[in-house]
Amino acid sequence: MNEEYFIKKIKEKDLLIKKYKMKNESLKKELEYYKKVAFTDSLTKLNNRRSLENIEKYDSVILGDVDHFKSINDNYGHSIGDLVLIDIGKILKKYVRESDLVCRWGGEEFVILLKKCSDKDAYNKAIELKKAITDLSDKFGFKITMSFGISKISDKTLKKAIDEADKAMYESKENGRDTITVYSLK
Ligand code: GH3
Ligand code: MG
Ligand code: MG
Repeated sequence: MNEEYFIKKIKEKDLLIKKYKMKNESLKKELEYYKKVAFTDSLTKLNNRRSLENIEKYDSVILGDVDHFKSINDNYGHSIGDLVLIDIGKILKKYVRESDLVCRWGGEEFVILLKKCSDKDAYNKAIELKKAITDLSDKFGFKITMSFGISKISDKTLKKAIDEADKAMYESKENGRDTITVYSLK
């Protein structure tokens, strides 16, 4: 069963609840279950990319990409790579507030949305995250680092802010990786 299946189920159940004004608890529970599966990344249990559609407003976005992750897979195997991604997900969740949102954006890329957060707060948060990820190297016995890009959302769409954070993240890669870059118009 793929995500599409659960999205279809959500629509069906939503329609049933609306049509018959159903207050049936088990139907509602079923709907919650489908939503959870459809919007959760199966490996890391973080929110998935789709869950970022139609969400409330956040202040800043941090985009993080694991450095040289392909060589981790190549040197230590795909299952070890998976364990690294799971641990990264746990760390990112641990270091942000309950009201923030951590999402597996794709492969080895993560998006963190922060609320009530100034530019300086977002930068300081990325410093904390970067250090915590590097500290994972001791556990695995090989180097693990991440490059980060930050953008302020303000009145932009989330998509635009994530694009900017992505550009900034690529600048971090160009500057030698294991680095944080804040997006700015040049
Ligand atoms: P860079 O520092 O430039 O980001 O290099 P990179 O090697 O991290 O980037 P690249 O895009 O070349 O490789 C990303 C790798 O991530 C390739 C892909 O196989 C791996 N990957 C994507 N999803 C998963 C996953 O779920 N598990 C594992 N183990 N690997 C994954
Ligand atoms: Mg990548
Ligand atoms: Mg990478």
